[in-house]
Amino acid sequence: MLEKGENKEYLPIEGLAAFNKATAELLLGADNPVIKEGRIATVQGLSGTGSLRLAAAFIQRYLPGVKVLISSPTWGNHKNILNDAGVPWSEYRYFDPKTVGLDFDGMLADMKDAPNGSIILLHGCAHNPTGIDPTTEQWDIIADVIQEKEHIAFFDVAYQGFASGSLDEDANSVRRFAARGMELFVAQSYSKNLGLYAERIGATNVITTSPELALRIKSQLKRLARPMYSNPPVHGARIVANVVGDPALFDEWRAEMQLMAGRIKQVRQKLYDELVAKDKSGKDWSFILKQIGMFSFTGLSQSQSENMTNKWHVYMTKDGRISLAGLSSAKCGYLADAIIDSYYN
Ligand code: PMP
Repeated sequence: MLEKGENKEYLPIEGLAAFNKATAELLLGADNPVIKEGRIATVQGLSGTGSLRLAAAFIQRYLPGVKVLISSPTWGNHKNILNDAGVPWSEYRYFDPKTVGLDFDGMLADMKDAPNGSIILLHGCAHNPTGIDPTTEQWDIIADVIQEKEHIAFFDVAYQGFASGSLDEDANSVRRFAARGMELFVAQSYSKNLGLYAERIGATNVITTSPELALRIKSQLKRLARPMYSNPPVHGARIVANVVGDPALFDEWRAEMQLMAGRIKQVRQKLYDELVAKDKSGKDWSFILKQIGMFSFTGLSQSQSENMTNKWHVYMTKDGRISLAGLSSAKCGYLADAIIDSYYN
């Protein structure tokens, strides 16, 4: 970038054009009819958080009073973002403590109970904090219910490529919904997958049914962004556009993501093996393997999580979540001892 002599002039309100093109193509695939037909409004955002916030401001202004349903549990900031945007929300069931898996029936029932035309906030992949994602078949059923109820899906995509190691696989949920012609909100983040945490780079996308609508929505997103932050920062946008636009850099990035996702899968397996070897009770620990992404819900309660910290000096969130990104293979045995002790004491 230095060699190219790029400057630090303001970007337009909607951000860097090359970034907006690249980010929509990464999300949907460059050949997606949504892109070919111009049915997507993409505005560069201040990473995942800022992109969610802009979408929330749009909902508050143009869908006033419409409730957003969020998963129980969800990433803690979702509630803050919706509260500060003045958007009402309620929760749908998601986590089943009995199976440490998805409460699929509860989730569907709560979506069916919500007033028609509600907005359903979904994690595109690698659900935070549980690490539990619906299967492809379950995503299709979720899409059926959303269509029947005329709800609008709102995807938070904070881990594309970082969960499975494949950008395409991690966008499966969003692409399946888009292929049905559904209208969607999608917030993207490049914090994890490109390690651009502090550059605050992401995007708000609104997928709609016609190019005319997409144009109007983009213009309204710009009206909302202008008084909030005027225009977004350029540096991270250039990094993403340069990496995606250069075949050698793009391949390097994908290989690094595969490496990171693969290492997380390895420690997941190692932790599972250690738990099975050490736990004589015959408890089924396979939920650890079924989860995806950097987080794992251990199923430990608050007091059990406190035992992890007070007795074993394992520092974790009190909801029982651990980050596998911070776990080395050498420490899996120790962690398994701590988890078993905390479970049964
Ligand atoms: N959504 C989810 C589910 C997340 O886990 C995170 C990061 N922890 C974000 C959004 C946003 O992160 P950022 O603002 O850094 O992109």
